[in-house]
Amino acid sequence: MTEFIPVFEPDLSGNEKLYLSRCIDSGWIGSNGNFVKQLERDFALFCNQKYGSCVTNGSAALDVAIRAMKDVYEWQNDDEIIIPSFNIISAAQSCIYNKLKPVFVDAEEYTWNIDVSKIEEMINERTRAIVIVHIYGLPSDVEPILQIAKKYNLKIIEDAAQAHGQTYNSKKCGSFGDISTFSFFTNKHIACGEGGIVLTSNEKLIEKINYYKNLCFTADKFVHNDLGWNLRMSNLQAAVAYAQFEKLNETINKKQYIGNLYHELLNGIPAKLSVKKTEYADNHYWIFGIVLNEDVKYTAKDVITKMREQNIEMRPFFYPMHKQPVFEKMRILDNISRPVSENLYNKGFYIPTGLNLTNEKIEYIAKQIKNLFA
Ligand SMILES: *Cc1c(COP(=O)(O)O)cnc(C)c1O
Repeated sequence: MTEFIPVFEPDLSGNEKLYLSRCIDSGWIGSNGNFVKQLERDFALFCNQKYGSCVTNGSAALDVAIRAMKDVYEWQNDDEIIIPSFNIISAAQSCIYNKLKPVFVDAEEYTWNIDVSKIEEMINERTRAIVIVHIYGLPSDVEPILQIAKKYNLKIIEDAAQAHGQTYNSKKCGSFGDISTFSFFTNKHIACGEGGIVLTSNEKLIEKINYYKNLCFTADKFVHNDLGWNLRMSNLQAAVAYAQFEKLNETINKKQYIGNLYHELLNGIPAKLSVKKTEYADNHYWIFGIVLNEDVKYTAKDVITKMREQNIEMRPFFYPMHKQPVFEKMRILDNISRPVSENLYNKGFYIPTGLNLTNEKIEYIAKQIKNLFA
């Protein structure tokens, strides 16, 4: 038996410590520090957007993004936003906090991203935007989604929280949204514990974003016309995120190395693995996923339990949005079936891709997985 192998570990061996010590030595720990400004400027530029606004996390980024869009585009309560069903809850919850209705579209079997062919049937006269989420390190098929958005005059929110530095047909993920958002949570490709950023090239939107994330302060300080939130990021978080941004390529290379090695070692198991590439991108393997074939007797949960006994941590795939008890309780669900996301939840799980994983550990993990089917 090996020592415990966590599903993820960050690599903080770059300039993280140096930049943190600069914050502490100078006293600039708050949200007005230079690392915040530098990260906003340089990460926006990197993603071909004009403006960046650092926030406390990726979920908050969506909260403030959707709030700003609702204002600027004059959306009404109960207007609808299209979101992949196979997703984390953040985007759907941001819609609901902003009194908009999330509408869920099933996943595509091979890439696990939104099934583009199922978007149009969910559009009606109340539809206002599509949330593009790049799932697990592989971009969504952006171009046809942009065409649908154009045809129906919809806005694009791009949630690129799992796709820092990823590209679609050589264009950066994060460059496609009227607003694009990222998370800098511990397991993301740029990590600072907790953090996030909102990007846009629209001056009105960035003004609203900065307004709502900063308690809606006005020039007349402490006089308020609206209620917002305090979602400001500290310079300490930005210092770590900036150091991580500097070595994003290294992180992606390591993830791709791990992903390719798993593909070699797991070849032939009765399951679908994270696809290596599509015609528009190579997988960056934010996570390395496995979806068991239908005839395999185990569920994802069975495998996770068995692997935990071997000291390996694995995690389940997303639980579909259209099955969430909270949304059922709120009566916002329809009766449309979304079988692909349901199967992904039942049969899908992801395996360790920590940035300090050694070949030996990867081989050990692969061996334990193969033993399941022996
Ligand atoms: C991680 C993630 C979020 C939420 O980010 P937090 O920083 O954890 O709040 C939102 N959307 C996607 C697709 C994510 O992967």
